[in-house]
Amino acid sequence: MSGLNLAQQEAVNYLHGPCLVLAGAGSGKTRVITHKIARLIQAGLSAKRIAAITFTNKAASEMRERAKGLIGREAKDVVVCTFHALGVRMLRQDGATLGLKPQFSILDSDDVTSIIKDAGGTTDAATARQWQWAISLWKNMGLNAAQAEAQAKDDNERVTARIMARYEERLAAFQSVDFDDLIGLPLRLLRDHPQVRARWQQDLGHVLVDEYQDTNATQYELLKLLVGERGRFTAVGDDDQSIYGWRGATLDNLRKLPVDYPQLKVIKLEQNYRSTSAILRAANNVIQPNPKLFPKTLFSELGEGEPVRVVDCDNEEHEAERAVARIQSIRANGAHKEWKDFALLYRANHQARIFEQALRKAQIPYKVSGGQSFFDRAEIRDLCAWLRLWVNNDDDPAFVRSVTTPKRGIGHQTLASLGTFASQYKLSLFEALFSSSLGSVLNARAVGSLHEFGRYVNDLAWRAGRTLGAEDARAFLSEWLRDIGYEQHLYDNEESEKLAASRWNNVLEFCDWMAQRCGGQIDDAAGVSVASEKKSLLEVAQTIALLSTISEREQDQNVVTLSTLHASKGLEWPHVVLVGCNEGLLPFKLDDDDGKAGAANESILQRLQEERRLMYVGITRAQRSLAVSWVKRRKKGREVVAGVPSRFIAEMALDKATIKEDPREKLKALRAEFAARKALGAAGPG
Ligand code: ATP
Ligand code: MG
Repeated sequence: MSGLNLAQQEAVNYLHGPCLVLAGAGSGKTRVITHKIARLIQAGLSAKRIAAITFTNKAASEMRERAKGLIGREAKDVVVCTFHALGVRMLRQDGATLGLKPQFSILDSDDVTSIIKDAGGTTDAATARQWQWAISLWKNMGLNAAQAEAQAKDDNERVTARIMARYEERLAAFQSVDFDDLIGLPLRLLRDHPQVRARWQQDLGHVLVDEYQDTNATQYELLKLLVGERGRFTAVGDDDQSIYGWRGATLDNLRKLPVDYPQLKVIKLEQNYRSTSAILRAANNVIQPNPKLFPKTLFSELGEGEPVRVVDCDNEEHEAERAVARIQSIRANGAHKEWKDFALLYRANHQARIFEQALRKAQIPYKVSGGQSFFDRAEIRDLCAWLRLWVNNDDDPAFVRSVTTPKRGIGHQTLASLGTFASQYKLSLFEALFSSSLGSVLNARAVGSLHEFGRYVNDLAWRAGRTLGAEDARAFLSEWLRDIGYEQHLYDNEESEKLAASRWNNVLEFCDWMAQRCGGQIDDAAGVSVASEKKSLLEVAQTIALLSTISEREQDQNVVTLSTLHASKGLEWPHVVLVGCNEGLLPFKLDDDDGKAGAANESILQRLQEERRLMYVGITRAQRSLAVSWVKRRKKGREVVAGVPSRFIAEMALDKATIKEDPREKLKALRAEFAARKALGAAGPG
């Protein structure tokens, strides 16, 4: 119980019923979860029967580390993962009940776009992505295609709902699921199959959920079914930090909790252990105009600290220079000498580039988080398509990508005929290729090349299942890449050699990382288990689709963090610079609604409130010092426009006299201090 205040202890000791910890930023909510895992084990619950759900894979591996620090080796049996990873675990175990093979594939967003293009009969990616977005939101609301059609408000929505129906048929045929299904299908599994539900409820002794305010409707339903009426769960969250409304997260989940669980124990934490009073005051002021779901007060005992700085800059380059200069000067003068003590936070991914350049110029090491992940790169996705095909032959999108990357003389025509044939006989492309009647639609040469490809994939999959440990995996992967001529493929297709070389480097890094996993050196970021024994290459391939970052390798790096505000949630740094605090960026431009007066105003207001919460999240990441910067002239497309400081700067209500980094003020202050010292010195030593 050491290192916990009374309210935290109360939350940690409340073991046998539903518990909600509702508190502002930095009040030790996440700490409650980690300590409660230890407490539950101490109280006799077996580690296997505890599930702790985090918002990102990275947060999961951090929590696992912390838990290990508290309770030692036993921590490795606790299921610490995201909702999505838990969904994978449930489907691998019980998906057969829903007609899903244990080796089903997980589609990424690009795969989904191309299936939706096909289902909707369009070649236009933008249209397809709009449908994709709408379908995803429906799925997150727990609606199937028929229900979506029934509640459609206009023709547009009705059309989308019908496309959704065709999309769902295709997913079933491909033995594939998308990311939303990783929640939706487990939910259906538990809802419709009482015996499966009973088993899961029996198996799980306690479920803990971090960042509860950003769960969506289906996640809440899933949680309810997992914990049953006993409701042995602990949710921690902060309504003021709900920043994923645009993705379907809903604060209704917080509102419903006391209604659905009348015996709910609600605990509030009021002490902030992260930030100085100056920073906390700015945060409290900013969030103040938002409507309050649960009123909260936060105080800090860390002292007033440095005032929050507002830095006005001429333009973006200047802003980057000043941010870098700030880091250098704090590092030169203060107690924090490590690069990892600093973070630059911004609203949108594209803002990172200019800061990257400035940091590079100053030779400061950094990492970008929340940007394009390693696994989104085309070359990595190529390789992942092959891996997916090994794991699940019926994964048609993976089939198409592998058979054409690199090109192996199987053309469009051949694939189109194969596709028609497959859908006629309700086969996957891979099954169709081995069908004895394929000769009726394709000539012998085409059939021959397809067979060759099919046999090659089977052979690879068979051998991958028998390749154990890092050394063998490394050898296997490099032989395979040589066989398919992947390096050459990169050099043939990239505009510059430099680009090809950098892609090839990523490929090597990826192979190395796979190999390490086979050797059991890295634990499973899908959170399914902490590996210590060797794994087969095929087993490792199975978890691939879920990994969005290889962040666990980056964790201990001593580098400055560049991050979007969204990706900074839950984290903390001694020194933070919040850049780009301009109207139009933060808050993000609010006026792009198509002018539908009443409804639009409502939604603009809601978006503004979510932007304000984002600002609150940003401010509360800082422990010791915070600067917010804005630019007087900013680039907008090709134009340069006048920059307006974010309204949130005014809302922070900083003391006007001290906030501006005005060199003259500083000089005055220094002079005064000098004079005072001199006076003291004259009076004698002291
Ligand atoms: P956020 O809302 O940003 O997710 P949080 O409420 O989860 O924040 P934590 O990250 O758990 O807060 O804690 C914030 C900081 O305060 C951490 O550095 C943590 O170690 C520290 N802390 C939490 N509780 C205590 C405590 N009782 N005594 C000392 N330090 C604490
Ligand atoms: Mg937290």
